[in-house]
Amino acid sequence: MKKVLVTGATGGTGSLVMKKLLQQQSEFEAFGFARNEAKVIELFGSTEKFFLGDIKDQSVLEQAMVGINALVILTSAIPIMKTPPTKPGETPVFEYAPGGTPEEVDYQGQKNQIDVAVKAGVEQIVLVGSGGGTDENHYLNTIGNGNILIWKRKAEQYLIDSGIDYTIIHAGGLLNESGGLRELLVGKDDTLINNPPNGIRPSIPREDVAEVVIQALHEPNARNKSFDIISKPEDDPSGVVTKDFAALFAQTTPGL
Ligand code: NAP
Repeated sequence: MKKVLVTGATGGTGSLVMKKLLQQQSEFEAFGFARNEAKVIELFGSTEKFFLGDIKDQSVLEQAMVGINALVILTSAIPIMKTPPTKPGETPVFEYAPGGTPEEVDYQGQKNQIDVAVKAGVEQIVLVGSGGGTDENHYLNTIGNGNILIWKRKAEQYLIDSGIDYTIIHAGGLLNESGGLRELLVGKDDTLINNPPNGIRPSIPREDVAEVVIQALHEPNARNKSFDIISKPEDDPSGVVTKDFAALFAQTTPGL
């Protein structure tokens, strides 16, 4: 039985990972880490199996990681729209809440999780990040002047350097659509994300990303790998639904 802690467990993808783990009770004992009690109750019915805290504070992370075998990091800074567009074509202005900048959440908050995991003897970390990180001028970095992809990537390098077995998943644009219906494609260094085959959108359902996280907990082939991932559209005639995750992970490579 593998004991798994999911942080960001109230998030779009984190809540799906948590639900999948809770459905596989013969293999996993799932624990969640979240900062918003009301959201936990809304999504999971109770706070049983949850640790309530902020990833900027190591003390609750320390309690949560006692006896944990694998950590799934699904926390992320979340931009807030400050000024909506007033006319078509105008871009909205975003900001981050105080204490919620990418430097604080994606760098310091992820570093805290990795440091506590190392001390607690956690064997494996699966981290979901974002495509686009090879381009410092990516538009996501301009949002709220947060440099989100730069801070995420620094934390990912910190994870690799920590010595814990890692799987780093750089997702394409996340879709709230059904999983298990598409062919998944993996790449590296944003090549696939910047030039997807046949001009498809470089996107993937959150449910598919959640399944990739679960499979990464199972498959030795996913250990010490980092990769970009997108999906073919559901109705793509060339698409063959991905079922063999060992084969998918075999296409991925170590290092950021
Ligand atoms: P999300 O819904 O934005 O969830 C983020 C989670 O982090 C939430 O549960 C949030 O808690 C939690 N969190 C933030 N700050 C925290 C703190 N200080 N302490 C504790 N928890 C904190 O996630 P998502 O949209 O599924 O994205 C998952 C990952 O994929 C992220 O790394 C994201 O950048 C990346 N990604 C996103 C896209 C996209 O299209 N959106 C594309 C590619 C990659 P609350 O629920 O309390 O707010």
